[in-house]
Amino acid sequence: MSQKPEKLIDKKGLRLDGRKPGELRSIQMEVGILSNADGSAYIQHGKNKILAGVYGPRELHPKHLALPDRTVLRCRYHMAPFSVQERKSPAPSRRDIELSKVITESLEPSIFLEYYPRTGIDVFVEVLQADGGTRCASITAASLALADAGIPMRDLVAACAAGKIDDTVVLDLMDTEDKIGEADVPVAFMPNLNAITLLQMDGILTLEEIEKALNLALKGCGKIYTLQKEALKAKYASVKEITE
Ligand code: ADP
Repeated sequence: MSQKPEKLIDKKGLRLDGRKPGELRSIQMEVGILSNADGSAYIQHGKNKILAGVYGPRELHPKHLALPDRTVLRCRYHMAPFSVQERKSPAPSRRDIELSKVITESLEPSIFLEYYPRTGIDVFVEVLQADGGTRCASITAASLALADAGIPMRDLVAACAAGKIDDTVVLDLMDTEDKIGEADVPVAFMPNLNAITLLQMDGILTLEEIEKALNLALKGCGKIYTLQKEALKAKYASVKEITE
């Protein structure tokens, strides 16, 4: 294990990975990479590497969970045993179960659930490598995978966190900042509808800091949203190239 750094922001105002306070990590996304799923996406958000696969809408099992007026969205978040430095048990942890619920609830408002009564949509999120902010990167990837599956949606959901380290409000905390920092505020947002679907806070912030962190996170979500749309377009651009 690496030693705990004394300072998270240096004299020049730069963070451990050289970022400025308001800077996102580098992000790449791709859709349609799993040929056996109805929709899929892969995201690399800093050192996070996450895959999302979607099945459905399809018959729901167990059947008693089916609803007469809408489809049931089920997201399963799972961290692979090799995703963190010390092997994680492959069995679902309390945290995996909590994040599965959080991700499901962040995505539900974006989907026209009422279009597919008595069915289910399953989203499987596998964290292959974790470095802080995996719930947000998972939401971003899962939303892209749902769009890739052709599921009618009101908007894409883009997510990122802001927080506080060394008394400074910063965007997109990585693992060390998340663990040693003072606070973490994950946000999921539908930019076109101007609607927040997730807002959590771990740590203590003043009202002013909360407002600053929220605004910073929303700006980050806006940038991620642009990347999501580019990733979706890229799939169809490559199809066109092949048929031309
Ligand atoms: P998020 O990943 O959304 O920030 P947490 O705040 O719960 O969620 O976790 C922060 C980070 O802690 C994770 O992204 C991951 O890097 C690390 N982490 C989570 N679970 C474990 C674990 N079992 N072992 C080692 N590191 C972990």
